[in-house]
Amino acid sequence: MPSRLPYPRSLPIRARLTAWYVGLLATILTAVGVFLPLRLSRDLVAGIDRTLDAGAAQISPANQETEVGFQDASDASLAGLTGGETAAQTISVTGTVVLHSGDPASQSAMLPPASVARVLAGAHLRTSLRVGTDHEAFRVLALPLGAGPGRQVLVVASSLDEVDQSVHRLRVLLLAVVPAALLAAAGGGWWLARKALRPVAEITRQAGAIGVEQLHERVPAPSTTDEVAGLATTINAMLERIEHGVREKRRFLADASHELRTPLAVMRSEIEVSLRSDDLEPAARDVLVSNAEEVERMSRIVDDLLTLARIDEGRLELARSRVDLGAVAADVAASLRPLAEAQGVPVTVSGGEVGAQVDADPEHLRRAVRNLVENAVKYTGGGGKVGVEVWRRNGEAGLTVTDTGPGIPEALLERIFDRFVRVDTARSRSTGGSGLGLSITREIVEAHGGRVWAESTPGEGSAFSMGFPLV
Ligand code: ADP
Repeated sequence: MPSRLPYPRSLPIRARLTAWYVGLLATILTAVGVFLPLRLSRDLVAGIDRTLDAGAAQISPANQETEVGFQDASDASLAGLTGGETAAQTISVTGTVVLHSGDPASQSAMLPPASVARVLAGAHLRTSLRVGTDHEAFRVLALPLGAGPGRQVLVVASSLDEVDQSVHRLRVLLLAVVPAALLAAAGGGWWLARKALRPVAEITRQAGAIGVEQLHERVPAPSTTDEVAGLATTINAMLERIEHGVREKRRFLADASHELRTPLAVMRSEIEVSLRSDDLEPAARDVLVSNAEEVERMSRIVDDLLTLARIDEGRLELARSRVDLGAVAADVAASLRPLAEAQGVPVTVSGGEVGAQVDADPEHLRRAVRNLVENAVKYTGGGGKVGVEVWRRNGEAGLTVTDTGPGIPEALLERIFDRFVRVDTARSRSTGGSGLGLSITREIVEAHGGRVWAESTPGEGSAFSMGFPLV
């Protein structure tokens, strides 16, 4: 979808807010920068116009009899104009200057002939124009004087030098101040946005770190009552609801697994009793044998689910004691010997003598190890081998179960300890798998402060390891 916003969406809010401040301020300051000099110039020119009006009114026809009289009158009447040159002149109907006073520009006609003609016809003219050889800017007022063929045009003028200089000074000042103000606004805006958004960043960080195992944690709620506090409160309320929902789900799973155990046990013993009967039809016996296998499988799944539910609820009780991993490995291998022989997979145990002592619950530890060895036997199949090596190194004691089975694809290796993850669903089902064994192993090992990992070369075999802090 094309972006409708005038900035890239990838920009952080901080940068966008700052861009907005600066953009807005730049627009306002540019408008002010254009308006102010215009306004100043107009006000100053209006002041000159008022003085020219008054001055022109004071230069009466009586003052115009002699050059000296005209000069005195115009000097006196235009004295109110501060700074800049003033000038006055009279122009005859022929367009020649009769009397003049002030700035040398007054020695020749300051108005073009067309304007002179218009004033002689009775118009009052007020304008700004450039005169003289140096093209100096003047504000000019021209009025008709007298009547008949002897009528003249009276011109009073004031140089616009001062006005231009004042406007120029203001422009220079604005040019220096505006970029400085923009820079200050950008810095201030950036700092302010950063300060305002810091709690949001903190909430994001904390919320991101809350996984399903830390649902009791909450994000920090600022002591203010603003939008950020509202966000934190909403996230916390949501976490509360999720925590409640997950707790309910776990309780349900635990209760359901628990409730299923009794009917499954009853079914299993009833099937066993039925199978003891001698007068069973062969077909009926086959069905019962198959049922017994399915019930067995279901019982294992229900047991696994119950164990996981207890782990999730934090109800996995560990009766810890000093346990020798070598002894556990030998014990597990012995208990799985019938299965291994049936599959045609020899299981060897090595390293039992290294003294791999760990502080663990023997029952749970045996279950964790059994899951690994049983998997190795199940998935390797006839012709392969399984080895259990007990080791001790770098303050860690552990064991590694190696097999020559089909291995695990690289992409699944990371997730193989997650619940219900199976490489080949059809094959796992035929071998009675539920996809829960490895996750139980991991939960048990981690509950003991240990770690699990898997390595594999597909087609050649796998190695599953667990390590615990050495006692
Ligand atoms: P399952 O009950 O299906 O065996 P697990 O959690 O014990 O469940 O194992 C998960 C999946 O990992 C299995 O379904 C299987 O595909 C794969 N797996 C486990 N151990 C091995 C192994 N030693 N060799 C090959 N695949 C294995």
